[in-house]
Amino acid sequence: MFCRVRLVSCLPTWSPGTNHKLWKLGCFLPQCPKLSCRGTKMSAGQSQKAETWDKCTLLELKVPFARTEIGTFFQEQPRIGNQYLEDAFLQRYLKTHLPFQVLEKVSLDLERFGARVAAEIDSLGRECELNPPALQHYDAWGRRVDHIVTCPAWKRMKEIAAEEGLIAEAYERKYSIWSRVQQVAKLYLYAPSAGLFTCPLAMTDGAAKVIESLGISGPLAKAFGHLTSRDPKKFWTSGQWMTERKGGSDVASGTESVAREQPDGTYCLYGFKWFTSATDSDMTLTLARIMDAQGRVEQGSRGLSLFFLEVRDKEGKLNGIEVQRLKEKLGTRQVPTAELLLDGSKAHRISAEGRGVASIANMLTITRIHNVISAVAGMRRMINLAREYASKRVVFGKLIKDHPLHMQTMARLEVETRGAFLMLMEIARLLGLEETKMASEQDLHLLRLLTPVAKLYTGKQAIAVISEGLECFGGQGYMEDTGLPVALRDAQVLTIWEGTTNILSLDVLRSLTKSQGQVLDAFCSGVQGKLELASSISELESSVQLLQDALHRLGQFTQRVGSKGAVAMELAARDFAYTLARIYTGALLLEHAAQPDATSTDTYTAQRWCKQDLCPVDPEEKAGCYDDKAASMDTYLVYEGSPVLKGKL
Ligand SMILES: Cc1cc2nc3c(=O)[nH]c(=O)nc-3n(C[C@H](O)[C@H](O)[C@H](O)COP(=O)(O)OP(=O)(O)OC[C@H]3O[C@@H](n4cnc5c(N)ncnc54)[C@H](O)[C@@H]3O)c2cc1C
Repeated sequence: MFCRVRLVSCLPTWSPGTNHKLWKLGCFLPQCPKLSCRGTKMSAGQSQKAETWDKCTLLELKVPFARTEIGTFFQEQPRIGNQYLEDAFLQRYLKTHLPFQVLEKVSLDLERFGARVAAEIDSLGRECELNPPALQHYDAWGRRVDHIVTCPAWKRMKEIAAEEGLIAEAYERKYSIWSRVQQVAKLYLYAPSAGLFTCPLAMTDGAAKVIESLGISGPLAKAFGHLTSRDPKKFWTSGQWMTERKGGSDVASGTESVAREQPDGTYCLYGFKWFTSATDSDMTLTLARIMDAQGRVEQGSRGLSLFFLEVRDKEGKLNGIEVQRLKEKLGTRQVPTAELLLDGSKAHRISAEGRGVASIANMLTITRIHNVISAVAGMRRMINLAREYASKRVVFGKLIKDHPLHMQTMARLEVETRGAFLMLMEIARLLGLEETKMASEQDLHLLRLLTPVAKLYTGKQAIAVISEGLECFGGQGYMEDTGLPVALRDAQVLTIWEGTTNILSLDVLRSLTKSQGQVLDAFCSGVQGKLELASSISELESSVQLLQDALHRLGQFTQRVGSKGAVAMELAARDFAYTLARIYTGALLLEHAAQPDATSTDTYTAQRWCKQDLCPVDPEEKAGCYDDKAASMDTYLVYEGSPVLKGKL
């Protein structure tokens, strides 16, 4: 225990000049019994006299921290205002794109919801962070119950999600093609305050999408009604149990779970699910291999079928499920993520046999889009808090916001966030078109291509922006009780779940191969279309040129690499995906800056974005980074000195 010691009690025998700053020393010394300056104990009388003297002197000198234990200055903390009203860029986007009558209703709802987020939801989210879920394996009488205990705030989040129609909006389609844009805008305001309830909502949305695409019938009709309900008493959330010990990316060879058909046509599942988030959900979709009467299963992705199951029965008992343990996670601690043993869980097969991977693809599209929402919303919130703070914190005689270097730092974050935001909204717009059957073939190709691109790119952006954002608060950005660091811990998962960066980069390549290049054609014409308006505006001309140049270099790259074979393309996958992200985002920013209502900041953002390397795949390829030699050198570089390659170097 350290506290201030009254060094001044030595003053009668050691008299400093009036300017001597004794209090500075006093702040950091450990407490000790009252001693004279020679180290001998003072009498009670001596000590009392010294203390009276001490108090008088301190009062006269106005020594800070002397009369009050903790000083008088307290930094005003950043506060969350109505995130809709404070987001000029979001408002401008909606004004540009939504038909007037839709805009009126949507903006009223978002303004109301923005106030609710600040006044109610944000503190619930914080409670979820402070009261993470716990697993109770046994009841008081020794019965195995595997009860996942969640806090009241987490339960309230579920009710709010239903009340606000956070899933329902997308399926009611009140605003036709704009329903997804409206839902995504709402989730974007909600996500950073939601205490990670966004995770079950992502999977709930994904499950509803799968059911809708498979046909809403049989046991799925009931489930769909629950998933899209606005009634908190009826509303269900869903899980997505894919990852097993052997593989999350590689479910085709990693899935060991098996399904045994029952006489009534249902199945019993046996297996071990290694990561199951939001395990307190009401239902789940999961993959397993159907086992025939002889105990044989088909390996590979062809052996996988998709199943639906309710997690608990009517009495609340787990459906042949044992919760082995809850995961110890870096972030997302608000969400119960468990390891589950399936021991005869009763399930319904909902895909054709062997069509599990194809059938769950819709769920992945939706959960990846939700990942983008969380990434962009996390960046936006961090910047909003940091700019609030910069208008309150004084350093070197002025507010931080008045230091140009600080503003430059934040402006860079703002450019990243605005770019990412437009990418998110573009995907929401395309999804809305697809779901109302208004999408052209080009729209569908773009949706297929841009979903993994946006997921992988915004995940990385979010970590970088949020990390830099924390630095904007100095030491306070590192302090848990400010509620700030959780944003960074939670952001780290955005690049991992729903497909890692490499897996998604390879998925981008897969979309090219499967469509025989059509997705890339759609990409190029999509970009060109967006540049049309901007190319007639003189302030945007040079940025349009930079973008055209990048598109041209991308075209040349694809021709060159085409002759090099599959390994070169695999090595280029990540840079290729980054290139697509940068070019398309640049086109979106230019399109936005070319609108009649655009502001000078829109122009500035587009110009700034286009100044970076928009086609990183080109210089990397020219530098030989995708050659066979580079591939083996990469391995040697990584494993130099490691036993793995001993003697081979
Ligand atoms: C907090 C959290 C919650 C989760 N919740 C769920 C859930 O609810 N449901 C669920 O099903 N899963 C869940 N997951 C699992 C998650 O989806 C997987 O961890 C993820 O897909 C990666 O799979 P893996 O862990 O098997 O990693 P691996 O596939 O073993 O990957 C390890 C590394 O190898 C790289 N790699 C893999 N293959 C290739 C390749 N072909 N080329 C280049 N690089 C490659 C990856 O990019 C990665 O860097 C969760 C994970 C976390 C962290």
